[in-house]
Amino acid sequence: MTKRIFMTIMTCVVVTIFVLGALMIGFSMNQNQSAVSLALASEADFVETGINQKGIDYLNQLNSSTRISWIDADGTVLFDSRADSATMENHLNRDEIQQATTDNDGYSRRKSNTLGVDYLYYARELDDGTFLRLSVSIASLSGMVSQVISEFFWAVVLTMIVAYGLAKRLARLLVEPINTIDPDHPSLSIYRELSPLLNKLEQQNRTIETQMATLKQNQKEFDSITSNMNEGLIVINANAMVLSVNASALRLFGLSGFNKGSVAQFCHDVDFMNAINDTLESGHGTCTLEINQRYIRVLGSGVKSSGVINGATILLLDVTETKMQEQMRCEFSANVSHELKTPLTSILGYSELMKNGMVDAVDLPYIATEIYDQASRLLQLVEDIIHLSRLDDGYRGQDYETIDFAELAKAVVAHHADKANKHHVSISCSGPSVLIDVVPSIIDEIMSNLVDNAIKYNRDNGHVWVSWSVNDSSLIIQVKDDGIGIAASDQARIFERFYRADKSHSSTIEGTGLGLSIVKHGVQFHHGTVEVESPGLNGGTIFTVVLPLQFENKAHSH
Ligand code: ADP
Repeated sequence: MTKRIFMTIMTCVVVTIFVLGALMIGFSMNQNQSAVSLALASEADFVETGINQKGIDYLNQLNSSTRISWIDADGTVLFDSRADSATMENHLNRDEIQQATTDNDGYSRRKSNTLGVDYLYYARELDDGTFLRLSVSIASLSGMVSQVISEFFWAVVLTMIVAYGLAKRLARLLVEPINTIDPDHPSLSIYRELSPLLNKLEQQNRTIETQMATLKQNQKEFDSITSNMNEGLIVINANAMVLSVNASALRLFGLSGFNKGSVAQFCHDVDFMNAINDTLESGHGTCTLEINQRYIRVLGSGVKSSGVINGATILLLDVTETKMQEQMRCEFSANVSHELKTPLTSILGYSELMKNGMVDAVDLPYIATEIYDQASRLLQLVEDIIHLSRLDDGYRGQDYETIDFAELAKAVVAHHADKANKHHVSISCSGPSVLIDVVPSIIDEIMSNLVDNAIKYNRDNGHVWVSWSVNDSSLIIQVKDDGIGIAASDQARIFERFYRADKSHSSTIEGTGLGLSIVKHGVQFHHGTVEVESPGLNGGTIFTVVLPLQFENKAHSH
């Protein structure tokens, strides 16, 4: 800008100088011509007086730088100071002579026929009818002009040097305040002429500020929504470059941060990259990844603008639970089929023998007992499965009741007294009266399974102790026995469906492997915990169940 202002000023100066110069030269030439014309007229006065007094002799002895001609009334040249008058042609038709004939004197400017040089002529008609003519060559006039021009040239050079310095300084002085304008706070006091521009700038600043505030607010809202999402969310552009990532996405990938680079930094799995490519190409891409022993479902969705995909959102869902449940369901159905098949095969086998009359009368009580036992086992299995599926469904329709746990525990123990006797196991129970909000049928089921196991997995003359106590907010129940115990390696798995520890014992002691699974689900249903302790085989076992006393609104939470 400084250069431009400088060039503009210099151009103005140069143009002005040349216009001024041309005017001056024209003016001075004009002035010169007028001055010369006047000088010729006044010299003519002297020469006229000389001619009137001495005639041609005066002219002959006259020594003048001016060319003097004396022309007769008929145009014959009588005298010429620069040429031989005898050889000169008739001058009556010369412009200045013609003018002098009518106006008494005349001027003209032309090339001399006689001398071949440009001349300025002045002619005057004398009293005797002759004409006196004085002339100077234009060359001498031009000499004066070129003198003016050479002086003018030096004046121009000097002016240009001064103008150069001034223009440079002026340009800087003009530009400096503009450079100091702060675009964020444009001041209006510098140049009044800039006010409309600066006002517009300020207005635009305000618009930008408002838009930025809205954008920031939107970004904040977006961030707070995405950071609180359980699902991972990644936003990428059309080149698969990451634009934003929420905390859940980083957690699912097991990362603590990310770079503003390609989405490939999160996972190099081919399936993941294919899903991203599919999303950016067709607008949709999915895959399931296994990261850190968790299953992550990737759902890519393209973002279109004017029909073109120019980015994508990648949603990451932790589907480990679903996947596990699916796996468990598969295992469960396989186990159920197997467990149902075993007793049914025995029943079918024995009944077939009986049908074909292949059973001796003496064997009949044994076979009948076998069929009865297997059918009971089948019934138990079906009942357990029904209980489990009810717990899986959240025991819909079952209401909480406030009961005295002591009464429930004593009833369960009493119910198992016969079985304990049969197994030669003594059973005792002790604890205070405790009011608790529970679904009684589930608690009954829990206690029955624990007491039943403590009797079943016991030894001759063994003991079972059922006890409970209360702290601030919980009921703590213990079912302890001094039976066969549980190996440390089995303790973590006994709550799994169909898991039976120590196969040698399990084959002799009847059971479905579903009892503790029902206990675990029942306890979880009541927001409690269940733990097992056993020093190992033949060391006895303690099951501890902790249940919260209050279950306000719990019925609605399932
Ligand atoms: P089951 O129908 O086989 O009793 P459970 O789910 O009730 O199934 O128990 C799972 C396994 O845990 C049992 O097979 C048994 O090996 C072990 N178990 C449970 N309770 C006891 C206990 N009190 N003492 C020793 N082992 C036990």
